[in-house]
Amino acid sequence: MLRLNNVNTFYGNIQALHDVSLEVKEGEIVALLGANGAGKTTTLMTISGIVPPQTGEIFYNKTPLHLMKPDEIVKLGVCQVPEGRHIFPHLSVSENIDLGAFLRRDKEQIRKDVEYVYDLFPQLAVRKNQLGETLSGGEQQMLAISRALLSKPKLLLLDEPSLGLAPIIVRQIFDIIKQINRESKTTILLVEQNANLALQIADKGYVMETGKIRLSGDAKDLLNNDDIKKAYLGGV
Ligand code: ATP
Repeated sequence: MLRLNNVNTFYGNIQALHDVSLEVKEGEIVALLGANGAGKTTTLMTISGIVPPQTGEIFYNKTPLHLMKPDEIVKLGVCQVPEGRHIFPHLSVSENIDLGAFLRRDKEQIRKDVEYVYDLFPQLAVRKNQLGETLSGGEQQMLAISRALLSKPKLLLLDEPSLGLAPIIVRQIFDIIKQINRESKTTILLVEQNANLALQIADKGYVMETGKIRLSGDAKDLLNNDDIKKAYLGGV
């Protein structure tokens, strides 16, 4: 469904991605792991066309994303939930959610999809009229995911959903990410520093270091890999 072939991305003169190649198959959850500054966010921004690659190719099915603009990429069903969430602070929960559907015209299905996200996140249902800025960090993350789901993405790019959240909330959000993947057949590329949790819900993982893919494999194998354990999972 998504394939990156030798992608090189720069910020001015600084090269942030070096020959990044990766593949996400339809229906999978793929975890993109690595320390701060490894290039995970840049990889997502390159896929969504915000920071296009200087060289290399990105194919979404057969469509060359590296030749397209961000708005065209969104219309294909590729939706990024950015780190830091970017919800609208002065709009209510329900207005934030409705904005996710702004490209859609199928009113009845939109209504059902809104019900679905309130079922996924009952905490949001009881806060429909509350302003975005008054939500907790975990609730804002839930809102950002809900808004993305209203655009009916085929490929969801999630940037560090665990950032700054308490462990119990992180667990809840990861369970729901798995549920979304299973129930609505959404393919997910998940950027995370919390390698342990990400690999528990993922099918495959890639580990980045200084802008390069250092290793990749089945999530289960990576969970048992001694190098990964040492570097990212708190020792062997
Ligand atoms: P984090 O987990 O801290 O978000 P990351 O793996 O997502 O890290 P990136 O944000 O992709 O890493 O950053 C990769 C590299 O690119 C870093 O060295 C960073 O300083 C650099 N970088 C990121 N954004 C910019 C920018 N707008 N201008 C210049 N350099 C940037």
